[in-house]
Amino acid sequence: MIHTCNYCGEAMHEEEVTHIQTLETGIVIVEHVPALVCGRCGNRYYTPETYDRLYALIHGDAKPLRVESVPVLDMRQSAA
Ligand SMILES: [Zn+2]
Repeated sequence: MIHTCNYCGEAMHEEEVTHIQTLETGIVIVEHVPALVCGRCGNRYYTPETYDRLYALIHGDAKPLRVESVPVLDMRQSAA
C-alpha cells in the first residue's frame, strides 16, 4: 500500500526515526521508532499501533539505555 504525504503529496517510505518528546518532567528521546517519512518535506506519520506503543514506552517505567545532556538554545538570543 502506497502512502502519500498529507502536506505535499509525495510518496512516503518506511524508516526508523528518533522521536523526541517534551514532558513536564523533561525531554525523552526514543530511538528506532518505525515511521512513514516523506521523501520531500520530511513529514512523519506513525501508525496508531506504533503511537500506542510509543505512548506506553514513554509513560511506562522502562529503564533508559543511557542518559544524555542536551544543549538548549533560545531564538530570542540569536541575531535576526
Ligand atoms: Zn511531504
